[in-house]
Amino acid sequence: MEEEVASEEKNKFKQYLLQQKELGYEEIYLPVSTRPRPPAPVKRLSIDRFKESETLGQLEMTINSCQKCPLGKTRTRFVFGVGDPHAKIIFIGEAPGRDEDMKGEPFVGRAGKLLDKMLPEVGLRREEVYIANILKCRPPNNRDPQPEEIDECEQHLLMQIKLLKPKVICCLGRIAAQTLLKTTMTLGAMRQRWFDYHGIKFMVTYHPAALLRTRAYTQAAMDDLRRLVDETMKV
Ligand code: URA
Repeated sequence: MEEEVASEEKNKFKQYLLQQKELGYEEIYLPVSTRPRPPAPVKRLSIDRFKESETLGQLEMTINSCQKCPLGKTRTRFVFGVGDPHAKIIFIGEAPGRDEDMKGEPFVGRAGKLLDKMLPEVGLRREEVYIANILKCRPPNNRDPQPEEIDECEQHLLMQIKLLKPKVICCLGRIAAQTLLKTTMTLGAMRQRWFDYHGIKFMVTYHPAALLRTRAYTQAAMDDLRRLVDETMKV
């Protein structure tokens, strides 16, 4: 039955083309489908897939003039990451904002200042952890990272993680965690849980910018950071 319908449709289309030819048309324009496209298949990235850089410095030199996505044209500075190369904990945010783009360092604006205040409350200093972002370049007007940008930039972060060999990864905010875990889970569903990310313990807490907007989440975020420190001590 389905085949019959398909062949009838084909014949109608053939007739239509012949008619158009008779009318003198040499080209026809078909409507672009407005149906939503199925999501692009998720690229599974393997930390071991990439060519080795031996040090973080070498890696930074290799990638800091990246032009693989349009953000290379609009950035002021490439924001590689900062902190102790032997850190047990790596914090991963979303992408540089205006201040980070100007300074070339992650989390130096208002959100970063809040993070700097929160870390000592759980016995951590900025200098003893490592801080990076999913994207190394600022998206214009701080819009969300686009899939094509993530596709190009995530491999830089993976190489960084491979060199850093952290014991624990703490994502700051939903977008960073969703990107790395390849999930659409909400922040609420991901918080207060441990995940395995290429053999590394992985958790997520609120983005400090969200805490600036909604102070009521601060206590929960501090609890998350305490859990992070406790778990790091065990590994
Ligand atoms: N927000 C982020 O996600 N990263 C930064 O570096 C700054 C703000």
